[in-house]
Amino acid sequence: MTDQALTQGEVFTTRWRGKMEYEWDTGAAVGRFMAGLKDGEILGLRCLQCKRTVIPPRAFCELCYVPMDRWTKLQDTGVINTFSVSFVNWDATRRETPEVPAVIEIDGASPGVGILHVLGEVGEDLETVVSRVAIGKRVEAVWKPAEEREGSITDIRYFKLID
Ligand SMILES: [Zn+2]
Repeated sequence: MTDQALTQGEVFTTRWRGKMEYEWDTGAAVGRFMAGLKDGEILGLRCLQCKRTVIPPRAFCELCYVPMDRWTKLQDTGVINTFSVSFVNWDATRRETPEVPAVIEIDGASPGVGILHVLGEVGEDLETVVSRVAIGKRVEAVWKPAEEREGSITDIRYFKLID
């Protein structure tokens, strides 16, 4: 079927504007993690069997198959595990300035355990970003003001370099 077939009436069409409201149940582990973000805290969960501290938290250790319920307040600093420099928005439109998504290994969590977020204050062009950002560099969270936080990962605006 072609775009012309749809727009020129060659096939029957109808227009409908759906009301697409939904709610997402975070579950106990992610719910508490989100509540911590609203309070300006990054919380992880520790497995008492394998001694790993993970983030984002989950109710069961995927290695040991045991419940995880030892909440641990982590630092809001960490290390860049990996990153990318993107000039494409989520809707595939081109960006003038780069966005730099990165996996951050949060201090206090086990090595190799991290969250996906974005880096900020790292440059407005590719050359600047790649001259400043590198795997292993230390970063810290830049939080929204407390009154603007809503219990979302975006309560952290971005991570910035601290070295
Ligand atoms: Zn475990």
